Amino acid sequence: MSQGRALITGGAGFLGSHLCDALLGEGWSVVVVDNLLTGRRANITHLTHDPRFEFVEKNICQPFDVGKVDYVFHFASPASPEDYHAHGIETLQVGSLGTFHALETAHKYGAKYLVSSTSECYGDPLEHPQKETYWGHVNPVGPRSVYDEAKRFTEAVTVAYRRYHNVDVRIARIFNTYGPRMQIRDGRVVPNFMRQALSGEELTIYGDGSQTRSFCYVSDEIDGFLRLAKSDEHMPVNIGNPTEFSILECAKLVLKVTGSKSQIRYVPLPQDDPRQRQPDITKARQLLGWEPRIDLEKGLRLSLDFFKQAVAEESTPK
Ligand code: UDP
Repeated sequence: MSQGRALITGGAGFLGSHLCDALLGEGWSVVVVDNLLTGRRANITHLTHDPRFEFVEKNICQPFDVGKVDYVFHFASPASPEDYHAHGIETLQVGSLGTFHALETAHKYGAKYLVSSTSECYGDPLEHPQKETYWGHVNPVGPRSVYDEAKRFTEAVTVAYRRYHNVDVRIARIFNTYGPRMQIRDGRVVPNFMRQALSGEELTIYGDGSQTRSFCYVSDEIDGFLRLAKSDEHMPVNIGNPTEFSILECAKLVLKVTGSKSQIRYVPLPQDDPRQRQPDITKARQLLGWEPRIDLEKGLRLSLDFFKQAVAEESTPK
């Protein structure tokens, strides 16, 4: 059944491309706009033969018009610390200019809108676990600020378009999500550990590994987005797995799942690395009936073939 036409900015990225699959599966036509700064064509090549799928290679920081759409999913942004450090100005631009353009599209066509925000809005949180009502503890001039403040600004523009133009918006605050199609060199902890374990290298733990994160498998995350997209909630909703792990525990699980004999090496902790992060998902549970189903060990097992192949491809001479 046809659902209408959805625009996904950043649709060639990790989450954006999984969202393409899910929306096409639900009967939508999908147009992706992505400049491939951190997204990859390989994430969407399996869709190019679907007549309901279009790809436009374009930077959304420039004004654009892809014609009438019924839903705007605004997912474009560098997202890993390594990527947003390498592309700090572009990260600020896409969070600001790109967000205006995505919202203008929704406004022009009367489309619904959902934006991917982040737990980074909470910074290095003083409240634990983090509820949506917490305003955060963010260093506005630290190395992470290009991402944190871009996303906080994204949220501000989004609620302003709701207040001033009555755009029908939704805001998903995403917590560390992992799974197939992550780039093995994007510097995030799961791809780093998987790549290191599968190639017999030492696993690099930053700091003493006692800092925590709560990891959500990609299919759970996408299920959360789809439910939020269908809801009428206009304020932010945490979409993440509330089970918290220390980074050392995460390293040990990766060694278990890969069967690797790699050693652990401790290296200095980056500046402003959040000490802990765990979503309070009461709002998502009550509002969306959403609950993540895949625990970290299972999710790592589900991701194993992808990472094995990515490591093999990298070591194959071109
Ligand atoms: N981390 C680590 N080793 C790595 C990569 C990351 O110990 O090889 C740590 C990092 O310092 C942070 C956590 O793992 O405390 C999650 O880092 P990631 O870059 O995945 O995402 P973040 O939640 O910091 O945005």
